[in-house]
Amino acid sequence: MSQESKKQKTIVIGAGPVGTLAALYAAQRGHDVEIYELRSDLRDPSTIPLNFTKSINLALSERGINAMRQSGKPTLLEKVFSETIPMRGRMIHGKSASGELYEQPQVYDVHGRAIYAVDRGGLNKTLLDELDAMPNVKLIFNHKLTGADFKKHKAWFEVSKSETSTGRNREIEINFDFMIGADGAHSAARYHMMKYARMNYQQEYIDTLWCEFQIPAKVLQAGDDQESRFRISPNHLHIWPGKDFMFIAIPSFDGSFTCTLFMPSLHFDRLEAESASVPAFF
Ligand SMILES: Cc1cc2nc3c(=O)[nH]c(=O)nc-3n(C[C@H](O)[C@H](O)[C@H](O)COP(=O)(O)OP(=O)(O)OC[C@H]3O[C@@H](n4cnc5c(N)ncnc54)[C@H](O)[C@@H]3O)c2cc1C
Repeated sequence: MSQESKKQKTIVIGAGPVGTLAALYAAQRGHDVEIYELRSDLRDPSTIPLNFTKSINLALSERGINAMRQSGKPTLLEKVFSETIPMRGRMIHGKSASGELYEQPQVYDVHGRAIYAVDRGGLNKTLLDELDAMPNVKLIFNHKLTGADFKKHKAWFEVSKSETSTGRNREIEINFDFMIGADGAHSAARYHMMKYARMNYQQEYIDTLWCEFQIPAKVLQAGDDQESRFRISPNHLHIWPGKDFMFIAIPSFDGSFTCTLFMPSLHFDRLEAESASVPAFF
């Protein structure tokens, strides 16, 4: 056997933030890495993300930052940080007993450490670009894991938009030495693994749905301070706490805020049934 063929072939299922970073680690160890992703390339502007109509922001904490720091890619963090905004604490928005609106900052850390607002799509794209530049990595899009045999080390993928004469998508079979399942909440890798390992898995839904909103950036006039593009403080994670719900706003680099309303489904049903009550609710 040649030296080349002895290399471990690691396949990663899913090219989200976890799959791309895990692939980077495997590639740095010298494995031959293949990443199979159900969707098209996120960097192609016509690709619509699986779960998000827009790219919602992520709050990146030390755990994620350190994982990137240890990836062996010295410029990775620099690239990610170039478009992040530090959030040094929470800003709690409320109404006092006398009816006045107030803002109350709460710093996260006595040493001034922060969490960072980052564009989810941008982070994912940066990780994909790093992988693309590595000779031992192959990115394979539009491939959906449909089956795996962990004894024979084989996996099957459906190739989207590849209709056969029967009208079904074409399926391919590949061999692997090691599989990393990073295919999200409804993981097919986990489902197939459960047939080979005595592994229990339980999924529970909480009765909370979410809905995304935007606070647009302020249009700047000539001579305006760049910072004034933000309508509320850019260095906080804004929270409007409620009894059963929570509204949050995370800054984006362009001056807008991506906001999320988390609420029990019944409340969403009510607002949907009486859309005129939405402004009063806010
Ligand atoms: C409203 C909301 C707000 C959040 N805010 C934060 C936050 O502020 N900070 C934070 O850290 N986290 C946050 N999260 C959680 C965060 O989004 C997830 O933890 C993160 O996306 C998980 O990454 P992942 O790579 O494991 O999975 P995913 O991002 O789900 O990626 C999985 C990938 O696998 C692909 N895939 C799925 N099935 C297959 C298959 N059969 N074959 C091949 N590919 C497949 C999918 O297309 C996808 O690209 C938030 C989540 C939500 C819903």
